[in-house]
Amino acid sequence: MATKQRVRSKNNSNISDVSKGLVLEALFSSIDTSKTGVITSVQFWNELKKRGILSDDPRLSDVKDAFDKACIGSKKGIDFSLFCETIKHALLVHKTLRGELCIPDFSGFCDEITDIFKEVKSNVNGNVANYIPQLARVNPKYFAVSICTIDGQRFSHGDTNTSFCLQSTCKPINYCIAHEELGEEKVHQHIGREPSGRSFNEMALNSDGLPHNPLINSGAIMCSSLIRRNIPIADRFDEVIKTWTELSGDVEPTFNNSVYLSEKQTADRNFALAYFMRENKAFPENTNLIETLEFYFQCCSIEVKSDSMASAAATLANGGVNPLTGKKVFSDGTAKNCLSLMNSCGMYDFSGEYAFKIGFPAKSGVSGALLIVIPNVMGICIWSPKLDELGNSVRGVEFSKKLGERFSFHNYDSLINNSEKKDPRRHKYESKMDNVINLIYAASCGDIDEIKRIEAKGVDLNVSDYDGRTALHLAASEGQFEVVDYLIKRKVNVNAKDRWGGTPLKDAKKSNHVDICNKIEKYLSK
Ligand code: GLN
Repeated sequence: MATKQRVRSKNNSNISDVSKGLVLEALFSSIDTSKTGVITSVQFWNELKKRGILSDDPRLSDVKDAFDKACIGSKKGIDFSLFCETIKHALLVHKTLRGELCIPDFSGFCDEITDIFKEVKSNVNGNVANYIPQLARVNPKYFAVSICTIDGQRFSHGDTNTSFCLQSTCKPINYCIAHEELGEEKVHQHIGREPSGRSFNEMALNSDGLPHNPLINSGAIMCSSLIRRNIPIADRFDEVIKTWTELSGDVEPTFNNSVYLSEKQTADRNFALAYFMRENKAFPENTNLIETLEFYFQCCSIEVKSDSMASAAATLANGGVNPLTGKKVFSDGTAKNCLSLMNSCGMYDFSGEYAFKIGFPAKSGVSGALLIVIPNVMGICIWSPKLDELGNSVRGVEFSKKLGERFSFHNYDSLINNSEKKDPRRHKYESKMDNVINLIYAASCGDIDEIKRIEAKGVDLNVSDYDGRTALHLAASEGQFEVVDYLIKRKVNVNAKDRWGGTPLKDAKKSNHVDICNKIEKYLSK
C-alpha cells in the first residue's frame, strides 16, 4: 500500500529508499509473526503458498535459488537485511505479501472450493465412457479440482497426481492453434460457429455442408486437418505438444498410447464423419483423411494432470498469456473467439442450459475432464470420470452449478444489484491501475521479467502514473541501466515529460547515473 501511494504522490517523484525499506519491513514482519527477527525458508514459502504462490512457480526460480543460498549455514533462517537483498527484485513476492493479487483472500476462497468439493464428492451418479475400452477401465472414483488465477495463484485438491487424457478438451486448444495460424476467416471457411443442438458425434453438418462448430467431433476433425498442414505429421503433433507445454506453464504433457490405439480401433463414427465431410467437400484440397483422423485421435490421447489443465484454462482467462511464465501462447483475439465458442457450444447438448444457468465458458471431454474459464479471473479444471447421458462429467456439472451459486462468476452477474453471491476478486478498476503501478514499480526495482510479463498482457510501456511518470523516468532515476536499455530498445518515448516537465534524462542527471545519461544522450543524438 505504501508503495502505491508513493508512486502516485505529488511531491515525491521517486520511490525513495526510505519508503521501499518500510514496505519491506512490513512484509518481513508479516512473516516473522513470532518476532524472532529471522525467517526460515519454510516460513517464507508457506506464507506465499497461503496466498496461492507455490515454490515451483517459474517466476520465482531466482528467488528460490537466492533464498536457498542465503539459508545455507543458518538453520535459524535469514534476518531482515538478507531478506531485503533476497527479494529486492521480486515484485511478485511484494505483491503477494501485500495482498494485491487477483484473489486477495486466497485461502478463504480455497476453503470454499474444498467445501464444494466435499459436497459434490457424494454424487456417484453417471457412468464412465464405455465406447472406448481403455476409458471404460478408468477408476470411476477419481476426483480432482485445480485452479489457477490470472496472477498465477494456484490450488489443487483431490486426485491431482493422476493424469487423464484430454479427449474433447483438446478441441478448444486445437481450434486456437489453427486460428492463430490461419485467422478467423480462413478457419471458418471450413467450420461453422453455431451450436449443433445434437450430441457430440452426431452425423450432421450445417446447411453449408460444414461441421457446426469446432467443439464437436466433426469440427474437431476439421480443425485437425487445418493445423500446420504444410509440415510433416510428426511435426504437427509436436506443435500441439509444444502448445500444451506452454499452456501448462512449462510442464510437458504425456501421451497415452493404449488410449490412442483403443480409440483408433473403435472409431467407426469418426471415420464416417470424415468421409461424410469429404463427400460434402468441406476439407481443404489434398487433405489426407487417415492422417487427419489419426492426428485427431492422438490429440485426444494426450494426458495432463489437473493443475496443467487449470493453467491452460487460466491462459485463456488471461487473454492468451500464460500467468506462470508470461508467455503469450495465443493472441487475445484467438482467446476471445475460443471463449465465445466454449460459451455457446462447449458442453455439447447441455451448452444452452449451462450458458443460461451457470454462465461461464467451459469445455468437457469424455474422460470426465472439464476445463472452465472465468475470464479475467481464473481457469479451473475439474476431473471426475463418470458422465451423464450427454457426455459431460456429472460431478463437473454439479461443481460448476455450486460455484455459480456461491460466486458472481456468471457472465451477466455484474448486472445484478444487491446480489447475495460473493465476489472474491479485486476490483476491476483497481487491477487496471495495477498494471500501470506494477510496470512503474518493476522499472524502479529493475525487474525486467516482470516488465516483459506486463508487456505481454498488452500494456503500453509508455503509460504513466498520476504524475505523468513513466517506467523510463523511474528506471532512469533509480539507476536501473538494464531497464533503461530495454525500454529504449522497445522504442518508448524517451522525451516523455512528467507533470513538472521532467524527462528521464533530467532524472538520470539529477541522480548522477552517468551511464544512463550517456545511453539516453547517445540515443537522442541518433
Ligand atoms: N475421442 C473422443 C471421440 O472422438 C472425444 C469425444 C469427447 O470427448 N466427447 O469420440
